[in-house]
Amino acid sequence: MTVSTPPEFTLQEELAQLKKEKNAVILAHYYQEPEIQEVADFIGDSLELAKKAAETPADIIVFAGVHFMAETAKILNPSKKVLLPDLNAGCSLADSCPPKAFRELKKQYPDHVVVTYINCSAEIKTLSDIVCTSSNAEKVINSIPPEKPIIFAPDKNLGKYLMQKTGRKMLLWDGACIVHEAFSLDKLLELYGQHPSAKIIAHPESEDHILKVANYIGSTSGMLNFVKNTEHDTFIVATEAGILHQMQKDVPWKTLIPAPAKEDNTCACSECAFMKMNTLEKLYNCLAEETPEITLSQDLMKKALRPIERMLELS
Ligand code: SF4
Repeated sequence: MTVSTPPEFTLQEELAQLKKEKNAVILAHYYQEPEIQEVADFIGDSLELAKKAAETPADIIVFAGVHFMAETAKILNPSKKVLLPDLNAGCSLADSCPPKAFRELKKQYPDHVVVTYINCSAEIKTLSDIVCTSSNAEKVINSIPPEKPIIFAPDKNLGKYLMQKTGRKMLLWDGACIVHEAFSLDKLLELYGQHPSAKIIAHPESEDHILKVANYIGSTSGMLNFVKNTEHDTFIVATEAGILHQMQKDVPWKTLIPAPAKEDNTCACSECAFMKMNTLEKLYNCLAEETPEITLSQDLMKKALRPIERMLELS
């Protein structure tokens, strides 16, 4: 059933009213559509949103993001209702690490500490010793005693970057994000030729050849801070294009150019089709009807909680 809003109210006003009535909170990722970011109570990257989810007093959490993020919120709040506007909003990176195959790998290396990037399913989290995000991955790796071998999953690009940063050798799972692997180096260099004073900033999920030409590499929040706190005024931004909304709000006087994708698309940039499955209307309907809801077994939540808590203790 689709709930239709009374014509005299805007969807935004109706959402605000519903949120109050139901004591709900809307958490949105920076990669969401601008109109969703505008109605959210908190906007953040994976780490910031996990922290908000852990401390919210709300009864209902509406997660405007993708499935693994809503799952993380549920694991941190097993007694609360966690809603995701579109259950099909998955993640290519999370999908690149199926639990059965990962369990097999783990069995072959029983002495390894398992570090997983938060972009993985709840089941993969149950197989992890500690979770990390791109904001705290270096800290997490450095917290592991140097004599302990490490399996890092699922993102091989972030894994390679971390090996360079920390000097630790790690066994990498062969997973990747389709959005961050879509950047074209040739087009990026051509664009840079047109804007030679620009600083190239990139997310570490991007491929090695993109990271090599970047002036700054960091998490979503790290990139936002870099653009805010440096004196430079032009940036080529290599991550999901949704971040440009918040970035431009923070620095309206600066020039932000999305890094070009290999394929020509409508915006000539990289957008995550999973993130963009959520719409304002779906967000409204999901809170009104309190569905689709994220449901996980108690046992799975209990096992997945520990590695997430370990990460939060370190952050
Ligand atoms: S941008 Fe990549 S890692 Fe992030 S949700 Fe989309 S597919 Fe997953």
